[in-house]
Amino acid sequence: MQQRMLDRAKKKLIKEREKLLADVNHIRSEELDKSQKNATGELSGYANHMADGGTDTIEKQISLGLISNEEAMLIRIDKALRKIEDKTYGVCELCKEKISQERLDAVSYATYCIKCRSQEENKNNNKV
Ligand SMILES: [Zn+2]
Repeated sequence: MQQRMLDRAKKKLIKEREKLLADVNHIRSEELDKSQKNATGELSGYANHMADGGTDTIEKQISLGLISNEEAMLIRIDKALRKIEDKTYGVCELCKEKISQERLDAVSYATYCIKCRSQEENKNNNKV
């Protein structure tokens, strides 16, 4: 891949990384906020607390799910940035063919070409 394209991809990845980090921090601080409110809320009646507890748990699971999604993306982005450094960026990890520019524009941290990606998806439907 041309240096110009690598530089472009790198800039894009760094931007995405910053955005993700900000999101994760945002979710984390909201979560912290909630648990602090819960701690003081414990003084106000047992029944209320139990009722709140149910939804809080679900909300917490949702935001923890969000965090792990975003962290998984961060890992992919870091990996892609490392690939840019060692000049293996844009090469499919499975078939070693070049990943199309179109796909890299859409998914800048892609490590598989579109063909291998769909083969992997067929092998394991649960895999995201
Ligand atoms: Zn491939």
